[in-house]
This record gives sequence, structure tokens and C-alpha cells, in this order.
Amino acid sequence: MMEQKVVLITGGSRGIGAATARRFAAGGCKVVINYHRSQAQAEALAAEIGGWAVQADVADPVQVGRMVDNVLDKYCQLDILICNAGIAQQKLFGDLTDDDWRRMFAVNVDGVFHAVRAGRIVTVSSMWGQVGGSCEVAYSAAKAAVIGLTRALAKELGPSGITVNCVSPGVISTEMNAHLDREALAALAEETPLGAIGTPEDVAEAIWYLSSDAARFVTGQVLAPNGGLVI
Ligand code: NAP
Repeated sequence: MMEQKVVLITGGSRGIGAATARRFAAGGCKVVINYHRSQAQAEALAAEIGGWAVQADVADPVQVGRMVDNVLDKYCQLDILICNAGIAQQKLFGDLTDDDWRRMFAVNVDGVFHAVRAGRIVTVSSMWGQVGGSCEVAYSAAKAAVIGLTRALAKELGPSGITVNCVSPGVISTEMNAHLDREALAALAEETPLGAIGTPEDVAEAIWYLSSDAARFVTGQVLAPNGGLVI
């Protein structure tokens, strides 16, 4: 279906991004794995799936511009962009510093803004961007901005034949949730109608669908692999 399409996945070195890289490689795509700090993991994954690992801090427009130019130099095309790179932080609102706030937006929102250049775009928000999370005000605000960006950009780029959609995961088992102990995870699973924490592969399948020809008439939408935790 998507033979030889070139996909760039930001934050592809670990977690949801790594599962997405594997899913697109299995689907016949050439996969570019962007990473920031996890060089060894990104290069091991690239070797595993026959992809290409490229370093760039998505918060830095110069680094992202150089990365996209390098992809275009190497492959002469960039068909699909997955804006997945993200950071989270749990802090009381009163403890948030200006730097905390700026870095949250620099990576999660500016990182999308800098990278947008492809025929199909999928952004990654969070259920907290939809309903707000206590002690995650900066993260919730940034992820809500990603949804707003997705919807507006879908309207603007639709006439050019470009789709822009968003996945908004619930609680997914990755290092981002390493601060949650076993009891907290069990409580979240119990709260979830489908009775479990999600896997990175659950999110990767949603991203794959939104990037596929099967979703050619879908744009500006938020697809939420969250087990029903937010409906
Ligand atoms: P993760 O395991 O912590 O991985 C985060 C990824 O983002 C890593 O590959 C990391 O790269 C990359 N990254 C972070 N800062 C970056 C930067 N400045 N430039 C480039 N890459 C950067 O997190 P995850 O759970 O897979 O999360 C992936 C996305 O899903 C994020 O946008 C997150 O907000 C969203 N999400 C996650 C959950 C969840 O429960 N896990 C729920 C909802 C939404 P390096 O390691 O190379 O630095």
C-alpha cells in the first residue's frame, strides 16, 4: 500500500516513536528516525529496520531545517511526517518556572511547527491536551495547542491535498510513565473502560492508519487510542 514512501518520525528512538518506526518499516516505508539524546537506541533501531537515524533537537529550527534538507538530499522525497517527539513534566502549577513552560512549548509545540513539511502529517497530542491534567498544566496546554495546530493546518493544507491528523493517546507503557509505580498503573488500568494500559504498538497502529491511503478522506481529526479513558 505505502511501498517506498519516506516517513520521518520525530522522537523515533524510544517508546511510541520506535514502535511507529517498526510499523512503517513493516509496511514497506523508508523510515527516518529522528532522535535527540538516545543515539545508541536510534542507531540500533535503524540497523534493525533498515532505516536512517538522524540527530536533531526539534525545538531548534536550524537543526530541524538541516535534518529535513538532509532527508530530501538523500531520498528526494518526504511523504509522511510523524510529529511525535515530546516531553512531559509533573509539577504543581505554582512550582512551574518560566524555563519549564518555555521548554515544554519549545519541544511539544514549536517542534511540530518547525517540522511541518510532508504530504501526510500526523501529530501526537495526549488525552491531557483534550481534558487537562492536574499537575500537568504546561503539558496539557502544549498538547492542546498541538490539537489546535492540527485542525487549523488541516483546513489550510486541505486544498493542496495534504492531510493533517492527530493521535491523542491515553496512558501508554513507555519511559514517559516511568514515574508511575505499579499501584498507580494498576489504578489507571482499572479506571480505563478496556481495563488496561496501552502499548506503543496500539498508538503506532492509529498513526499508521492516519498516514495510509485508507485515510485519504480523513483530515483535521483527533484519533484517541486510550482504551476509553477519555470519551
Ligand atoms: P518517551 O518514551 O519518553 O520518548 C520520547 C521521545 O521523544 C524520545 O524518542 C526522545 O528522543 C524524543 N524527544 C524528546 N525531546 C526531544 C527533542 N527536543 N528533540 C527530538 N526528540 C525529542 O515518550 P513516549 O511515551 O514514547 O511519547 C511519545 C509522544 O507521545 C510524546 O509526544 C508524548 O507526549 C506522547 N504521549 C505519550 C503518552 C504516554 O502515556 N506515554 C500519552 C499521551 C501522549 P531521545 O530519547 O533521543 O532524546
